[in-house]
Amino acid sequence: MNYRHIYHAGNFADVVKHIVVARTIDYLKRKPGAFRVIDTHAGIGVYDLSSDEAQKTGEWKDGIGRLLDADLPGDAAALIAPYLDAVRAANPKGGLTAYPGSPAITRHLLRNQDRLTAIELHPADAETLKTHFAGDFQTRVIALDGWLALGAHLPPKEKRGLVIVDPPFEREGEFDRLIDGLVKAYKRWPGGTYLMWYPVKNRKAVAAFRDALREAGIAKILDLSLDIRAPSVPERLDGTGLVVVNPPYPLEAEMKIVLPVLARLLGDGKDATWRAEWLAGERPAS
Ligand code: SAM
Repeated sequence: MNYRHIYHAGNFADVVKHIVVARTIDYLKRKPGAFRVIDTHAGIGVYDLSSDEAQKTGEWKDGIGRLLDADLPGDAAALIAPYLDAVRAANPKGGLTAYPGSPAITRHLLRNQDRLTAIELHPADAETLKTHFAGDFQTRVIALDGWLALGAHLPPKEKRGLVIVDPPFEREGEFDRLIDGLVKAYKRWPGGTYLMWYPVKNRKAVAAFRDALREAGIAKILDLSLDIRAPSVPERLDGTGLVVVNPPYPLEAEMKIVLPVLARLLGDGKDATWRAEWLAGERPAS
């Protein structure tokens, strides 16, 4: 396990992913019933942007660094606001020296009745996360293989909620693991919302992944992506993708407002593109 998220925290991919997390939680909060968020690859919670690692890549400067104080169109600003609130809460003295990861953003947005299960396999990272949430009765941190959690922890007793699957893609076969994990999890809990991250780097692998999802026997899948530039040679992370199973019904329309704004703001020149496409569902693919 060599992957360290501190090098990438707050980059364009985190921004898109965490906005979708925040929009989904915002939707879950519209009903009074409690829900649970299960984060299978949680990371350490909060990332120090002044650390040597974050400074070395500086990726956050072209992600949250461009967005935090940007002048946004009103409709996009309202949709992005809960996410930016969570980022500001991680920086109580103002400025931007810390970036909250998915469990910290989620926790910021929960109500008293809601719960978070945060799973992290790296022993040191799991310890850091446990320390971060020490004494918080709404959050349970577990040092465990997140792929196993997709079986063992589903469905949650609340029967409402979100499963975030955000693997590091440092090993071969991660696309296949995502599909296998999703199919197994969906069988156990077909009513859950699932948010799965994937890199847009190897375009053939992405196309095969999308094709396999179309055939996976899952009723509703929305695919969201933002490419910040045209395909690079040699390959690099040109874009970020999110598969959302059972998306909240407003999410497609919301992201059609947010993604063009992010493409302009975070794009690396005029070749930035975005998409919001149903891979499975009642609506025809656009
Ligand atoms: N979700 C986090 C966020 O948005 O802030 C970032 C997660 S980072 C992309 C991936 C994390 O998964 C790393 O912290 C890594 O240590 C952890 N990890 C790798 N393999 C894992 C596994 N099999 N189960 C659980 N965690 C794993």
